[in-house]
Formats: sequence, C-alpha cells, structure tokens
Amino acid sequence: MNQTKYSKKEFVIVPLPICFIFIMTMFMACNPTSQLTEEAILIQNVSIIDPVNGLEQNKSVLIDRAKIVRIYEQSQAPELSGVSKIDGTNNYLMPGLWDAHVHYSFDENMRSEMNSLFLKYGITSVRDTGGPMDIVLQVKIASTRAEEISPSIYIAGPLIDGSPNVYNNSSPYYPLLSIENTDIQSIEENMGALVAEDLDFLKAYEMLTEPQFKALMKTANESELRVTGHIPLSMNLFSAVDNGLKGMEHLRNLEMSVAQNADELQEQRLEMLQNQEGLSGGALRSSIHAAQRMEAIAQLDSSKLLAAATLLAEEGVWQTPTLALYNNFATKEYLEDSAVEKLRVLPAEVSIAWSEAMKMSGSEIDPSTIAYAEWMRETVGYLNQNEVPFMAGTDTPIGFLIPGISLHRELELLVQSGLSNLEAIEAATIEPARFLGVERHTSRILEGYEADLILLRENPLENISATKEIEKVIKSGKVVPIEEF
Ligand SMILES: [Zn+2]
Repeated sequence: MNQTKYSKKEFVIVPLPICFIFIMTMFMACNPTSQLTEEAILIQNVSIIDPVNGLEQNKSVLIDRAKIVRIYEQSQAPELSGVSKIDGTNNYLMPGLWDAHVHYSFDENMRSEMNSLFLKYGITSVRDTGGPMDIVLQVKIASTRAEEISPSIYIAGPLIDGSPNVYNNSSPYYPLLSIENTDIQSIEENMGALVAEDLDFLKAYEMLTEPQFKALMKTANESELRVTGHIPLSMNLFSAVDNGLKGMEHLRNLEMSVAQNADELQEQRLEMLQNQEGLSGGALRSSIHAAQRMEAIAQLDSSKLLAAATLLAEEGVWQTPTLALYNNFATKEYLEDSAVEKLRVLPAEVSIAWSEAMKMSGSEIDPSTIAYAEWMRETVGYLNQNEVPFMAGTDTPIGFLIPGISLHRELELLVQSGLSNLEAIEAATIEPARFLGVERHTSRILEGYEADLILLRENPLENISATKEIEKVIKSGKVVPIEEF
C-alpha cells in the first residue's frame, strides 16, 4: 500500500506507441525538413557570402518560417519535392543589407514610400537615428504587422539635445527631430519618459552640456540602451567616449578633438555656446562649425588622432560616417543626368521639391566642402586600419539621398576610403546587428538565422557595386515582389 506510484520497473517498460512517438519527435527535431510549410524555399547551387566566413561555393540553402533552416553542400542537398526552388547558379546569396542611419520623420511626403524603396534595393533592416517619438514609434509598430512587408526597424526616438536645440521645427531643413533640454533636471525627466518607450538605442546631440551628457549616459546605462550621437560641442571625443558613448555619426566633431590646439578650441566653443546673440540652435551650431572645423583639420595632431583611433578601437565605438551625404555636397553628383533620372522612383511631390531645391543649390561647390569630404574619406581609411568598427548608413532622405539606392553608394565610398569589400559588407550587415545586440539571430548566412537575404547576379567581393545587381530580395523568408528597376 505504501508503494510509490511509479516503480522503477514501470519506468523501464514504456508502452510501444509512446516509444514510437518519442522517437518520431526526436527525429523531427533533428530533421527540420520533415515539417516544412508551404512557404519553404530551397535556393539551389548558390555561392553564399557570410560576413564573417566570407565566400563558400556550391551550397543549397533551405529557408522556411522566416529562418534559414539548413545549408547543404550542393552535392548532398535533398530533392525536397513540393518545395519551391530558386536556381542560384552563378548567383551570390548574402544577408540583407542595413542602412544604419535613416530618418523616417524628416519628410512626411516620403515616409510611406521608404519601406518599399529600402526593400527594393535589398535593405532589410534600418536604424532610425532620430525623430519625434510619436512618428518613429508608429513606423516601428506598423512594420511589425503580419500583413506588412517592411524592413526591420530599430529606433532611437528623438535626438536628445541641449538648448537651443538644432532640429526645432524652424524650417523644412530643421524639422522637429529633437527634444530640447535646458538643465540636468529636464534631462532626467525627459530620459525617464523616453526609456519607458520601446526604444532600441539613444542618440545624444550636439548642444548638450557636459553635465547633461553625463546625466543622459547614466540613465542610458541603467536602461541598458546604447548611445550613439554627435560629440557635444561643449565636450571632446575623449571625455564623451570615457563617459560611455558607443557610436559616432558623421565622425561629427572628431577633428576638433585631435587638433594641435584642441583645448583652446574647446574653450572658444564654450564661449560661443553662451550664445550672446541669441541665435537659433541651427545657426549657432553652423557658426561654430564654420569657425573651427577647417581650422582643426589644417592643424591636426597625428599623435592625438592616433590616440583617438586607439580609444575608439579599444572601446568599440562604431563609426557611421555617412560618406554618401558629404560626397553629395562635395560633388553635386545628384545634378548628373543619370542621378536626376533616378528621382522617378520618389513620390511625385518629393521628386518635384527635390528637383527645385537641386536647381536652387546651383552647380558651384565651395572648396572647403570638397576638402572636408576628402578628409572624411581619409579619416575613415585611417580609423579602419586602426580597427575601429564601422556601420554603413546614409542619412536618407536628407541631402538628396534616395532611400535604398544611396546605401549602395555608401558601400562604394567605404571601399574607396580603404575598407575591403568584405569589411564594407560587414559594415552593412553584422556590425549594425552587433550594435543593437541582435547579431545572434540576424545578418549572417547560418542555420537558425533570420531569412533576410539578397541574391545577387555578381560577386560583391570582387566589385562592391555588385550589391546593386539584385536578382531577388527575401525578407522574413518571403520573396519581396519587386517591379523592374
Ligand atoms: Zn541623421
């Protein structure tokens, strides 16, 4: 009567049907192809380009339920009758690209078209680097609806700026992208509200004071959110990184920190930031850049530059230089016929507005704009040699940069600046994934990873412009319907 419910003997003798179910369950767990859905696709006889392992030839890649299920040697790939096939002969399969610097909120006429333009050009993930919370949150939520085909969208929320803030809704060039903070208390209050939202990272902006920046970093650390941004004009690169800044956009204000007279320049900036003339944030920032940027570049101290590069590499501070943006200002290549022709992909009202603004900008180019763009490319090469991590991002739709296509220009410019083709591909895949802490499930060609993929007709490891030779885009395991380019 005191027997335990299950004797040892009863455990050993498992009824046969249960044993069968157990074996079948184990078999199916080990053999995912036995439970394929009708969405499954087998990409046959393809070369894969993994951003870490590089090129591997003669593979077959099975995808299903939005994931890469299996990668076979072509010679060992099963027939899988009933599964859709894509012939990858002479093609290259790589992870979908990221544009790590976009602004959905910059132009409301553009917004609704951005996702389809990104996907059309193989951009399957984006990082929105600043916009009002209500807009960017809405864009992010909409992107996750099942019926929506959208890139994965990661958002920073608004630029966290000091006073006067730069993007303050004062003109179409300065829409409201930021929140103004007048003191530490307002930083603490605003940060508290921000981190309660569904943000993926934060962006610190240029007019913050040092105490405000430190208060921001404290809240960010407590909330485990990474912070990218511009080095605040009140600070220098070394103190911003020492306080935990993990990303820099446009190499912004790096030069001022590595000039021979960097300390003197910082003193001058603190003086100018007193803003005796009561300038707007945009005007005050521009006047400081005009006073210091080219002077700093003319007086660079190579040992300070090396110290900055070493610190950025040691701390793993990602650089998103947005070279295509500065190249556009320095070359005005957007005036070329082939570039003007591309405007047809934009919504009509945007295309008209851009055409007019381009004409207004004229064809003359300020020599300092050319020198600055050149300095940026040189500096990107130098930082890359010193093992500073990079992300590919554009700033679209700012600066006449068309969503999607402009990322491919960024990749070309990163390679022209000294990144290898594979490093440029890393900058547009695994690096942004690492910044956002999602690198264990996306942006590689590995089993179990998300099936966000592009199939190319040419090899981007031989010619980086081949990223434009897109045969197919696959987002979350589904082929994106794309009309002719
Ligand atoms: Zn931006």
